Amino acid sequence: MKIAQRMEHIKPSPTLAVSAKAAAMKAQGIDVIGFGAGEPDFDTPDHIKQAAIAALAAGFTKYTPVGGTEDLKNAVAAKFKRDNSLEYKNSEILISCGAKHSLYNAFQAVLNEGDEIIIPAPYWVSYPDMAYLAGAVPVIIETTDASGFKVTPEQVRAAITPRTRAFVLNSPSNPTGAAYSADELRALADVLLGTGILVVSDEIYESLVYDGFTCTSIVTVEPRLKEQALVVNGVSKTYSMTGWRIGYAAGPLDVIKAMTDIQSQSTSNPTSIAQKASVAALNGPQDCINEMLQAFDKRRTYMVKRLNAIEGFSCFMPNGAFYTFPNVSGVYGKKSGSTVIDGSDDLAAALLETARVAVVAGSAFGADSCIRLSYAISLENIEKGLDRIEAFVKTLI
Ligand code: PMP
Ligand code: GLU
Repeated sequence: MKIAQRMEHIKPSPTLAVSAKAAAMKAQGIDVIGFGAGEPDFDTPDHIKQAAIAALAAGFTKYTPVGGTEDLKNAVAAKFKRDNSLEYKNSEILISCGAKHSLYNAFQAVLNEGDEIIIPAPYWVSYPDMAYLAGAVPVIIETTDASGFKVTPEQVRAAITPRTRAFVLNSPSNPTGAAYSADELRALADVLLGTGILVVSDEIYESLVYDGFTCTSIVTVEPRLKEQALVVNGVSKTYSMTGWRIGYAAGPLDVIKAMTDIQSQSTSNPTSIAQKASVAALNGPQDCINEMLQAFDKRRTYMVKRLNAIEGFSCFMPNGAFYTFPNVSGVYGKKSGSTVIDGSDDLAAALLETARVAVVAGSAFGADSCIRLSYAISLENIEKGLDRIEAFVKTLI
């Protein structure tokens, strides 16, 4: 069958693919340590599950309004007010099947064929492919560990052309864990304000920050940006609810309306009972986040220390999310047996084959000198996996 031309650039999500491969190997009885996980390893808190059970029992099992229930929109609006000092009306909010779906709808809603969208690298794997699916051109700005994996206002200014339609900001970042301070956000806002460029601020890791870092939205820092910004967030990471598929976006009325119309002609509403559970997540007790954070923090510091002790590796200390993104280019050019490790794909493949450790190659995020290791796995497995990586690297010649 002829596949549509727009699929030319589209590949399966590499992060999901690595996790699936590690799971398949485990199912075959192979002892793999999977650092691919893009989801918290904790159970969804009980009060959230109970809300879904109650919704089921009450027969809340039918279509809801396409863009989400008023109940959940109220909870999202209250969350924005409480956590970000942002005021959104329900008509400026869309509930989707995950933040990924909100982002997809947004790109479809605002990008025309040939439009440019600025994406800082290392980037989350899905942004460029979503841009291609909308017929747009991803314009990648490079950042490295030396610059803290953050773009400068000068870099953004230099990337803007008359075709620029959107700019993607992901703080804290997947895959680097880098997060922008309020001052850094202000400097970026100064470049973007008044340009008509839509700032897509993906804040899905907002709650997962360490060392007392205060995570701020670029729109909170510069409220005048609200008219040209779309804030995207969700319950997946904060409440360990990846499988429930609820995310949301808030932004200008016309953008939200267009996104809702796309949803209306594609998926309809997100799952009714998952929406009820998300109301409980957003309105209920928030201490479950702290419990998760403490475990993540312990793993983060342990992992960075261990990675930095491996010869040829150097690891940036992430401010947020649950990923480490070490620069491993120090081992490139070396050999594992007769195979030369010539980049992150080779290293990830050799680690899986030889050391039985699954990591995501940095190439998937536009950063071939790095690999991504998630710390959303137990400390015991982190220790075991790092022992394997360390031993593997020692065998390289
Ligand atoms: N943005 C980023 C940066 C992510 O890492 C993820 C993780 N999947 C998402 C968006 C989408 O999350 P979800 O669709 O589960 O809400
Ligand atoms: N965002 C997570 C990750 O980067 C989940 C996988 C995905 O949605 O691609 O691993």
